[in-house]
Amino acid sequence: MSENPEASITQEQRQAYIDKYGLTPAEAGHEMLIQMIEDHFAEGLETEVEPFPETDREFGALLDQLRPLSADQLREKLVISGWLLQPYGEDQMRCQECMYYLVHKRWCDLPELDLPAKPEWWCRLWRI
Ligand code: SF4
Repeated sequence: MSENPEASITQEQRQAYIDKYGLTPAEAGHEMLIQMIEDHFAEGLETEVEPFPETDREFGALLDQLRPLSADQLREKLVISGWLLQPYGEDQMRCQECMYYLVHKRWCDLPELDLPAKPEWWCRLWRI
């Protein structure tokens, strides 16, 4: 049982994942998680792209928000991280160049996210 009651999805959210995919994000593999992420955006998910964390303190504050989330709280992770399915900004920043991106695994290795990502995706925790 979770020690933090906020670090879980509701029974309704759990059932919605199971009805649609047969499992929840915590049980999903790489391809299924990619599908879940893309589906959230196809359904109109809007994420908190701004403000971009300019300082270590701001960056750490975002990590503090993400850390208590469970693997099933995919939607919340996407929202807080400001996840996008395309490059961002004038510099067209993207996962491909981020220090947390595992190119061969196509995975975001930032422990607070720990999610698959396509090279052209981006989130506001991007670092080089
Ligand atoms: S921290 Fe964000 S930009 Fe960097 S690899 Fe992970 S999802 Fe992509």
